[in-house]
Amino acid sequence: MTPAERFVQRLSKVKGRNGTWTACCPAHEDKSPSLSVREADDGRVLVHCFGGCDVQTVLGAVGMDMTDLFPERDERLDHTQVTKPLKPAFYASDLLRIASFECLVVMNAAYDMRRGKKLSEEDMARLETAQQRIEEVIQYANV
Ligand SMILES: [Zn+2]
Repeated sequence: MTPAERFVQRLSKVKGRNGTWTACCPAHEDKSPSLSVREADDGRVLVHCFGGCDVQTVLGAVGMDMTDLFPERDERLDHTQVTKPLKPAFYASDLLRIASFECLVVMNAAYDMRRGKKLSEEDMARLETAQQRIEEVIQYANV
């Protein structure tokens, strides 16, 4: 089992595949999934709560810590790289990641509909949030 799978199995309302998941954030009252989990090519786990929780808090809520985000074969060199402070928000890559996450939310809704599942009020509200967040991304990108 990879670090990402170990983490994801402790979350609720998990959806996704191919190394990208959405789930409810365990660190705050989260009715509509606002946690994005991604497995990087090198096996690292990228966690982001759109409700604003920091990664350590999210991990602590499921009894894990930062070291659990790295594959065991990880070398010391990689560790020094990833312990660098995170870049400030609103780099193009961050904005694209947000947009991509929101697309995943929409896609999951589409999958549900295709399976004949009716969307709840909550789902509809989450889709509206997705649209708003993409609008915000456009604003932050100064388009
Ligand atoms: Zn959170």
